[in-house]
Amino acid sequence: MPSLIKMKDGRAITPPDPEIPFIAGDGIGPEIWLAARRVFDAAVAACGKKRRVAWLESFAGQAALKARGHTLPGETLDVIRSHAVAIKGPIGTPVGSGFTSVNVALRKIFDLYACVRPQKWIPGVPAPVPDPSKIDFVLFRENLEDVYAGIEWSSKSAEAGYVRNFLRTEFHIDLPDDSGIGIKPMSEAITKRFVRRALRFALDRRRRSVTFVHKGNIMKFTEGAFRTWGYEVGRMEFGKRTVTEGEVREGASAKGKVVLKDRIADAMFQEVILKPGEHDVIVCPNLNGDYLSDACAALVGGLGMAPGANIGDQAAIFEATHGTAPDIAGKDLGNPSGLILSGAMMFEFLGWEDVAARIRGAVEGTVLAGTVTGDLARGRKDVTQVGTQKFGELVAAGAGKA
Ligand code: ATP
Repeated sequence: MPSLIKMKDGRAITPPDPEIPFIAGDGIGPEIWLAARRVFDAAVAACGKKRRVAWLESFAGQAALKARGHTLPGETLDVIRSHAVAIKGPIGTPVGSGFTSVNVALRKIFDLYACVRPQKWIPGVPAPVPDPSKIDFVLFRENLEDVYAGIEWSSKSAEAGYVRNFLRTEFHIDLPDDSGIGIKPMSEAITKRFVRRALRFALDRRRRSVTFVHKGNIMKFTEGAFRTWGYEVGRMEFGKRTVTEGEVREGASAKGKVVLKDRIADAMFQEVILKPGEHDVIVCPNLNGDYLSDACAALVGGLGMAPGANIGDQAAIFEATHGTAPDIAGKDLGNPSGLILSGAMMFEFLGWEDVAARIRGAVEGTVLAGTVTGDLARGRKDVTQVGTQKFGELVAAGAGKA
């Protein structure tokens, strides 16, 4: 009988034989999962006989809708709850009313408050910047608050009329009568919990710096407060191991410490392109993080290469950041690297760093050898294009090498 992973203080306690649920997902999901699983099994097997993973299939999205009449069945939620850690392929949201996004629902149900997206360039991957070798970011995006909290009313609704009226009578703020209304909540406790996780990560992994990205110059009491609360966590909870950029400028030593800095969001878009070496762990509110993470993913080779995770204190779900790619589904064309590298993140989270290193090394080796999927082969004569499964086989062979 395989064993269960437990979470304590937001960290995983991993038995040598964990059972890990997977959701293959929709569109290219089943193909990329097949390729990725082969890589995971090869990497685990190569790391010694004492460890093994039992994969447990769970369903969500279209497959679940067909079989169970619901895109997110209760039994899938029970499995994630009892197993704490899961990995999934992309899940589409059917267009039209009545379907909420499975991805958003999972974040809310399991309180997965931190979206984590590493962006590291792999040699051999085409990049749109002159020197991508300096790009090695881990972007933390707050997952639950900000304009994504879902508090929104259309211009014609009674609720929007009520809020406009309230603002007019109570605060003398006169909005046009055809204004839609959205609310942007950002709270101290949720922000601090999120920043705490990012700072712990930076310290555990010996990263050089943490950059808070905000528009506090314009939105002082939401984005500006995010910045203030970020520095407060740094100073009050990790004071001995952090130093601010300002203090370093005045002569303080940064030796052995994580340097805390902040940037206005628009300036940050320039800096990740022009001065990528200056940033390391990047900590963003929800909307800034949404924009910036896709931009950073483009700098290191695009969607097919981008891994991700949604992490809370009780559960963590690892997944590629791309969608279901319906245009190439079923054609053996999808790049499984995003999901494979999400698996590497998962093994690192479980404390199996050796497995993670094997997986990352094998993806790098395969790409560097010039064997890539269609998304990376486009317009290039110096590489050989292979299908999803062949790419998975090559990476698995690399991951399993003695
Ligand atoms: P969804 O509605 O699920 O978000 P989408 O097509 O709108 O799907 P993505 O799935 O992210 O969004 O795809 C955007 C583009 O990137 C598509 O042309 C798709 O083929 C391509 N793409 C996404 N993921 C991959 C991948 N893993 N390998 C190759 N191409 C990919």
